[in-house]
Amino acid sequence: MSDCIFCAIAAKDIHGRIVHETEHSLAFLDVNPLAPGHTLVVPKDHYARLDDLPEEISADLWRTVDELVPRVEAAVDADATNVGMNNGPAAGQEVEHVHVHIVPRFEGDGGSPIHAVGGTRPDLSDEELDDIEAAISN
Ligand code: AMP
Ligand code: ZN
Repeated sequence: MSDCIFCAIAAKDIHGRIVHETEHSLAFLDVNPLAPGHTLVVPKDHYARLDDLPEEISADLWRTVDELVPRVEAAVDADATNVGMNNGPAAGQEVEHVHVHIVPRFEGDGGSPIHAVGGTRPDLSDEELDDIEAAISN
């Protein structure tokens, strides 16, 4: 997509600190890192959301994430990582090109667990939970 910053990095039209590349995926350092080593893993082609990815591209993306997590942790001597994505604007996705964040974490770094992304916690009845369970299962 012509006005997409991550497409431009994938096409090498603009500079990115690329740390790994496969046939379908690219990993580069986040320009505004939450922690040293904050890395983004993206498909080379433009897809806005996770469920837009063809199976082969998705498999390559997650394999790349899996491979990079220990490398990123080792590179910055992290104690742990948060791995996740903002999948859609309502979830905080600003760049509408699928990207998985690998955020290194350090003991006492003052950050939060991934639970912090949620809004007010819902108080769900058993019936509501039954309905949700069934809807996802179908
Ligand atoms: P999100 O809110 O999940 O869409 O996050 C977008 C991420 O992309 C942010 O963490 C930005 O710092 C990062 N970002 C934006 N532009 C660039 C760029 N040119 N190179 C690397 N990371 C970028
Ligand atoms: Zn793009």
